[in-house]
Amino acid sequence: MALNKVIYPGTFDPITNGHLDIIERAASMFGEVVIAVAASPSKNTMFSLEERVELVEQVTSHLDNVSVQGFSGLMVDFAKEVKANILIRGLRTTVDFEYEFGLTSMYKKLLPSLESIFLTPSDEYAFLSSTIVREVAIHGGNVEEFVPPSVAEALKKK
Ligand code: ADP
Repeated sequence: MALNKVIYPGTFDPITNGHLDIIERAASMFGEVVIAVAASPSKNTMFSLEERVELVEQVTSHLDNVSVQGFSGLMVDFAKEVKANILIRGLRTTVDFEYEFGLTSMYKKLLPSLESIFLTPSDEYAFLSSTIVREVAIHGGNVEEFVPPSVAEALKKK
C-alpha cells in the first residue's frame, strides 16, 4: 500500500511554534506532508501569500518529507490535486474543537474519501495563535519565544 500523504492547510500568518509542533508530529507519522498555505483573501493577512509560503519553507527545510505550496480556492480541490488522502488539523482547546468539527463535517460532504485527523500540540503551545503573535509584534513585544527566529525577524521588519 502506498504511504499516506497528508495535507495540513492553514493561513499561517505567520507560522508559529505551535504550527511547527504539529508539522513535526505529522512528519514523523506519515509518508509525506504537504503544507497548504491558503491565499485567504478575506482575512486581510499581514504577510502576502508568497511571504507566508517562504517563511514556512524556511522553517521546515530540515524535514525531508515536508513540502509547502500556496493555494487559492477550495481546500478539498487542492487536496484532490495533490492526491492527499488525509487532512491534518491542530486542536488547541474546546474552542478549536467546535470550529474544526463544523469544518470537518463540511469537508466530509465535499470529499468523502478525505479522512480527517486532529493532532494536539505540546501544552506550551496550547494558547498560541498567529493572531496573538501579530498583536504582540505590532505593539513592539518580544515574540522570540513563540516563533522560529526567521519569523521573528520578518515580524520586526513589518
Ligand atoms: P486557519 O485560518 O485555517 O485557522 P491557521 O494558520 O490559524 O489557519 O491554523 C492552521 C491549523 O493549525 C488549524 O488547524 C489550527 O487549529 C492549527 N493551529 C494553529 N495554532 C496552533 C497551535 N498553537 N497548536 C496547535 N495547532 C495550531
